[in-house]
Amino acid sequence: MNFGFTTRFAPSPTGEMHLGNAYSALFAYKRADKSRGGNFLLRIEDIDSSRCKSKFETSILVDLEWLGISSDTTIRRQSEHLDDYALAVKKLKNQGLIYPCFCSRSDINAINNAPHKSRITVYPGTCRNLDRSEIVDKISVGKNYSLRLDVKESLNRLGKITWYDRKKGLQAVKPELFGDIIIARKDTPTSYHLAVTVDDHLQNINLVTRGDDLEPSTGIHRILQKLLGFSEPEYEHHKLIFDNDGERLSKRNKSATISSLRSSGIPSYQLIEALLDGNDERLLDLLDRTAE
Ligand code: GLU
Repeated sequence: MNFGFTTRFAPSPTGEMHLGNAYSALFAYKRADKSRGGNFLLRIEDIDSSRCKSKFETSILVDLEWLGISSDTTIRRQSEHLDDYALAVKKLKNQGLIYPCFCSRSDINAINNAPHKSRITVYPGTCRNLDRSEIVDKISVGKNYSLRLDVKESLNRLGKITWYDRKKGLQAVKPELFGDIIIARKDTPTSYHLAVTVDDHLQNINLVTRGDDLEPSTGIHRILQKLLGFSEPEYEHHKLIFDNDGERLSKRNKSATISSLRSSGIPSYQLIEALLDGNDERLLDLLDRTAE
């Protein structure tokens, strides 16, 4: 009998692995509860070919091995599964829920920089109601476009959507937080949201764990799951790891890379314990030792 979960760690190989990533990986590994039959899977989220590098994937795998973590199945690389995403795009297209968006990044940034900006840019729907001839004209002069989901219409059809968060209980999806999200980017025939939703389904993930910063994405993924007829996983969003100045430990904080901690000679079990028992003092002490 399997009383564990199937969880995953899904890093994007855009830099060295840092403490926050290690915590995320350990969290998902622990939640899989392998002693009760759970599975832990690894997925490389490498659809952004301009930012993802195979050298970073290699270093992430070395770091995970040092942390004693490995995938229970073959590692899934998103760049090798573009057909799966194309099929999902087609399904959404057939439902009449997708439209081309010709807005550039600077158009969107202009919205973001407007006075009274909110932290999250919500696409205002500029291209939602373009008529057919306008679309044909833009495409015929070679304008690139992304594909967006008509979220309002999706919710009209689906009704109220929720997700189950293991810590917070039932949560309602709040579409005003994200608006019409991108389903396929201009340069890639998928987006983060679509690829994650399809992969979690195909990898039979029944507990999605990730950082609090990605919580707003969960509502988007629930809408896509419903539209695509996928089953619903449970969710758990975990805390982010902070450094001395209260700043999120990120790839910018060099001292916090796992490879620097490894080469400083600390045993991996010390880092694992410090991360998992939530003892910030212990963690900061380890960081200080690498800085010496
Ligand atoms: N690839 C994402 C990241 O590295 C995580 C995606 C997810 O867990 O849904 O932040």
